[in-house]
Amino acid sequence: MGLSMNDSRRTFLKQAAGLTAAFLTGFDGKHAAYASSLQSEGTTTSDTAEWYDHPMRWAQLAFVEDDPGNYDLSFWLDYFQKIHADAACLSAGGVVAFYPTEIPLHYRSRWLGAMDTFGDIVHGCRKLGMNIVARTDAHACHQDVYDAHPDWIAVDEHGNKRRHPSDPQYWITCALGPYNFEFMTLVHQEIMRNYMVDGIFTNRWSGSGMCYCEHCQQNFRAFSHLDLPRTSDPQDPARRQYILWNQQRLFELWRLWNQKLREINPHSSYIANAGGGALSPLDMKTIGELAPTLFADRQGRSGLMAPWANGKNGKEYRATMGQKAIGGIFSVGIEDKYRWKDSVQSGDELRLWVADGIAQGLRPWFTKFNAKVIDHRWLPVVEEIYKWHYANETYLRNERPLARIGVVYSQQTAAFYGGEKARATVEDPALGFYQALVEARIPFEMVHDQLFDRQHIAQFRTLIFPNIAALSTLQCQQIQAFVENGGSIVATYETSLYNEWGVRRQDFGLASIFGASFAGNIQGPMLNSYLSLEKDPTKNAYHPLLAGLEDATRTINAVNQVNVKPTGQSIASPLQIVPSYPDLPMEDVFPRPVQEHNPGVFLRESGRSRIVYFPGDIDRTFWEILDADHAKLLRNAVLWATNEPAPITVEGQGVIDISVWSQKSSMTVHLVNLTNPMMMKGPVREIIPIASQRVQVQIPEGRRVTKAKLLVAGKDIPYRVEQRHILLTVPSIHVHEVIALDFAV
Ligand SMILES: [Zn+2]
Repeated sequence: MGLSMNDSRRTFLKQAAGLTAAFLTGFDGKHAAYASSLQSEGTTTSDTAEWYDHPMRWAQLAFVEDDPGNYDLSFWLDYFQKIHADAACLSAGGVVAFYPTEIPLHYRSRWLGAMDTFGDIVHGCRKLGMNIVARTDAHACHQDVYDAHPDWIAVDEHGNKRRHPSDPQYWITCALGPYNFEFMTLVHQEIMRNYMVDGIFTNRWSGSGMCYCEHCQQNFRAFSHLDLPRTSDPQDPARRQYILWNQQRLFELWRLWNQKLREINPHSSYIANAGGGALSPLDMKTIGELAPTLFADRQGRSGLMAPWANGKNGKEYRATMGQKAIGGIFSVGIEDKYRWKDSVQSGDELRLWVADGIAQGLRPWFTKFNAKVIDHRWLPVVEEIYKWHYANETYLRNERPLARIGVVYSQQTAAFYGGEKARATVEDPALGFYQALVEARIPFEMVHDQLFDRQHIAQFRTLIFPNIAALSTLQCQQIQAFVENGGSIVATYETSLYNEWGVRRQDFGLASIFGASFAGNIQGPMLNSYLSLEKDPTKNAYHPLLAGLEDATRTINAVNQVNVKPTGQSIASPLQIVPSYPDLPMEDVFPRPVQEHNPGVFLRESGRSRIVYFPGDIDRTFWEILDADHAKLLRNAVLWATNEPAPITVEGQGVIDISVWSQKSSMTVHLVNLTNPMMMKGPVREIIPIASQRVQVQIPEGRRVTKAKLLVAGKDIPYRVEQRHILLTVPSIHVHEVIALDFAV
């Protein structure tokens, strides 16, 4: 199948204005024509050869209204120079203009007077050789805009215009109507004409939830012949159409702004604040085609967010951005629902968050709201990170990751299968697998489910499907082709049991690969259910899936499971399900005899390919419970399926996030120390260094290593060569260490 299908799909997608095939299945010709007409309004090609790859370190100053005349410009220019920031994102207009705008209703800062605050800092940054991106904000407006154009204001489900919840003198604007398409277009054109910046970055441009304004009503009806949805159930026909229409409208806006900016400055781009993982509403494949560069706006962690979450953003963005420059926006302040925008995070929390982003390929971008510094404690921390980054820049210009494992993420599964529960049913399984791979010290990438073509997955030996429930027939065929070419699969729970619209199938789309068919029902949440660990009766030995569990006879089961029946030949299952039995009263808590034995895992080998399918949601359960046995099972499943020497192994104590990269004439291994008392709940109090880590790195074919260095310790390190491997010991790691191996040229 392979190529011809991909080619026809690509052609189809071109006609479809970059919407994914799944998002268009079932559309009639009228919609395709509508989408096609959007395509002609903008450009979908990107210019990677332009300035976008140049900046390595970004600085963002988000002005507040009273900054003009009240902040110290020279302080910031000195700081930017000192930290080697080579690009800046600076507030220009939108909610408040910081330059002498001529556009009616474009509100000027009351402190601006005859000044040009934006222009002055642009001038100063240009003298430092920095690239400049102007920041606008499109989500709110003043009363005079409301009075002149009441139809530009967002409307709630009861028909009321929406006041800003944080500041009632502002109104929330509609993102999908004339406020953005007309007014903000004028603002963007004026900024570009006056300052010829390299790009415009818009904050909060994509709306503030559902809008029921007259424009949204009319435009949605024209698109779908339906009224705007009143439910968030993705199986509701109006909601399903809304998911499509909302994206199409936003991509139309993106293309419009991009086109209008490039008419004035062909080397510029509209840079949307957009993107993310499975829960992100805008299709990342289309974003990957549209955006010449992209930034993950994940300013810091709060609550139970893991410290590797910043690196996860890097992998999700790279899945569709490829080699284009991607950055990680971090806030110097505490990010929490109480929004202390003038606060400062602990230095170690900042160091850890940024290090994990850098390790996974994000270029750092700090953001500071309010140009008058109230609390100075973050300044030396960012200076230290940026100076190190500058000194080691050659080793941070990565060409490609060398990971052999890919974890699939699926926006269509989140949108159409997950719906309102997507965080629990779609993201949590992915987080569980992510944590298990970090604990297992296995480097991996993320893979977008619309990019299963050979070009995008050939680098991977194993693809992991953490409950990727919604897959089209085409996607299943692509996975089949990957397996036929020797690729391995690890999948869990309801993977492929639904089509791309989240409609349940009779059987798994991947039933023949799993060696298991859907038996008609799904169980859970199950209390007091187990997995018994079984020796292979023919060999009287434990399967490698049970490595490290040889002394165990049973472990806890996943909380939910699909009932399945075996089809075809599988390896004898080393896990058998012990069904739930009473958990109270205690006198009743004993396992009952069972008639039939159901496998807790399906293992298959065919050619070079190995398949592991868990009918339970063991990855989601792991994220909820973090049971050590499940960590081992998930690790072993990936190692057994992958069945080749790892590109990197690191032995020693502690939890580390690992990445391995090649550059032009070197390779690097990043080790981020996540071993901290507060790792499961920020903020970090102090970093506890980890000791001696024994590292074995596989050297790419045809390369010879001439030198090994530790970029954070700042010294050369002795190493041994054994065939294609370099062996060395990193004596200690504080937050972050980078092993750099220079190649002979
Ligand atoms: Zn609206």
